[in-house]
Amino acid sequence: MLASLSLLGWPGGAPALSILIYHRVLPVPDPLRPGEIDAALFEAQTRFLSRHFTLMTVSEAAQALREKRLPRRAACITFDDGYADNLTVAHPILARHQAKATVFVATGYLNGGRMFSDTVIEFVRRAHGPVLDLASIGMGRHPISTGEERLKAISALQVQLKYLAPAERDAQVARMLAAHPVGPLPEDLMLSDAQLRALADAGHEVGGHTVDHTVLTTLTLDAARHQVQAGREALERLTGRPVRSFAYPNGRPVRDYDAGHAALLRELGFEAAVSTAAGVARPGADLFQLPRYTPWGRSITLFAARLMRNARMGAPSAVV
Ligand SMILES: [Zn+2]
Repeated sequence: MLASLSLLGWPGGAPALSILIYHRVLPVPDPLRPGEIDAALFEAQTRFLSRHFTLMTVSEAAQALREKRLPRRAACITFDDGYADNLTVAHPILARHQAKATVFVATGYLNGGRMFSDTVIEFVRRAHGPVLDLASIGMGRHPISTGEERLKAISALQVQLKYLAPAERDAQVARMLAAHPVGPLPEDLMLSDAQLRALADAGHEVGGHTVDHTVLTTLTLDAARHQVQAGREALERLTGRPVRSFAYPNGRPVRDYDAGHAALLRELGFEAAVSTAAGVARPGADLFQLPRYTPWGRSITLFAARLMRNARMGAPSAVV
C-alpha cells in the first residue's frame, strides 16, 4: 500500500522507460556480497514492478520507443554478465510474475568462467587468517579476522586489479592465488551453454556484452568490433535467435564507450544498447544509449522511492 502510494508522485508528461540493472540473484544473502540482491527481495521487487509497470524486454521497449507507443510507466529487468543464478534463482521468480528479463552475456565466461571480481571474493572467503599477506606480490597485507575485515580486503584487492590491462590482470590474479593457496574455487558461477539456451527458450531476451568484458574505449575500433561481433555470433549460435541488444561493459558514457561505439552497433544492425548512466528514456531517446540504474533498498517503499527519484532525473546527457 505504502509502496503504491509513493508512486503517486511519479513524474507526469511523456511515458518513461526505467531499465534496472541486476547481476546476480543469490538464493540466500551472502555477507561477502552485500551489494547483491537475494531471492526474497528480488521476488518482492518483481511483484512490485509487475503490478505497477509494463515490463518489457530491452528490444521490445526500444521498438515501442521507436514507434512512439511506449506505455506510460514501462520497465525492463536486465542482468549483466551471464550468471547461472539468472536461470536457477531469478527465472522461477520472473516466471511466477509473467515477467521477461534481458540477459547481457559476456560469452568468454560461459561454461565455468569466473570474473576477476568473483575470484577475489571466493579467494578471500577461503583465505586463512588472521592476515592475508600478499606483500610479496605487491598487493599488501590485509587483516581478515572478521567479516568486516574480509569485506575491506575484497574491495582493496578488487580496486588494485580493476584498472590493469586484461592480460596483466589475469597474470596478477594468478600470482595472488599462488601466493596464498586456498584450494579450488567455484566453476559454476556463470551460465553453461545449456542454461543459456534454457533462458532463451523461456522467452528472456539474450543480449550482447562482448566476449571478454573488455571496456570498449580501451580497444581500437577494429578490436571493439571483433569483441562485439564474436560475442553476438556465439550467442546467436547457442540460442538460435537473433541478438538485437547490447550492454556496454562498465557502461559509463565517454569513459567506457563513445559515439563511435554507438555508431558501430547501429551499423552492425543492433536495435538498442544500454549504458549505466542513470535516468529514464522517453520517446525520442537515443536507442543506442538507453540509461539504466541499479535499484537499491531493503524495503519496497525505498525501492519505489528510488525508482521515482531516478525517473525525475530524466534523460542523461548523451555522448553524441
Ligand atoms: Zn558487465
